[in-house]
Amino acid sequence: MPPATLKNTEISRRAWFASLFGAALRTQPANRSRATLCGIPFLRLARGASSLRLLRIHGDEETARQAVEILMESLEAEAWIVDSRTRHVEVLGLRLDPNRMFSRAGAGRNLRRLNPSAPESAIAAALDFLDQGREKMLRTLAPPPGGLWIAAHNNGPGYSIHAEAPISTEMHLPQPEMPRDFFLFTEEKDFRAATRAPRNAVLPDRPEGRTTARSRAGAPPGACATSMSRQPTASWKSSWK
Ligand SMILES: [Zn+2]
Repeated sequence: MPPATLKNTEISRRAWFASLFGAALRTQPANRSRATLCGIPFLRLARGASSLRLLRIHGDEETARQAVEILMESLEAEAWIVDSRTRHVEVLGLRLDPNRMFSRAGAGRNLRRLNPSAPESAIAAALDFLDQGREKMLRTLAPPPGGLWIAAHNNGPGYSIHAEAPISTEMHLPQPEMPRDFFLFTEEKDFRAATRAPRNAVLPDRPEGRTTARSRAGAPPGACATSMSRQPTASWKSSWK
């Protein structure tokens, strides 16, 4: 059991999440199941019919996993956790950062960087494999239209909200003593909602430039071509300890 003070903090964070994103608080345990998407094993936690989606994408980010699990003790939401202890996953024998699987272009750059001796035919095969599973993966992981998609990450040393300042339009810093604990939003209206709460938040000036191609999660289905990627609408950078 965590210390009482930490537990209190966790409870307040859950309540804050619920108030900010309109999610309902529930007490019954979340349903747990497993699925494989694009060849990557996922753990799914779900409760209720909320449009809030949580994602823990990097297997070595244990604090992020714990934060998502703690939130899912009471939030009405659906969470997907890459079921791995390592940062990179294996796709047809090649290493891949799963945070780069959302577009063919991004996956290609990442596969070539992480597998410098792999022949181009192996890279192409892995990219084709990801292409085949991407639409199903996005349909499964992404929220319904209008929903909010939050990816939880651990922060590495030397990275904080201040690193985002030079490339951001606005920053909300009500907790200056916790600069490594913040939300990075890709939609201005979500950032505006966050500024009503006492949690650090930042709005990048070109959020789409941070990922190869992204759109608001829940864009009209007709806009979703195979080559199009969707990225979470908010990234929760937490040093939660
Ligand atoms: Zn991460």
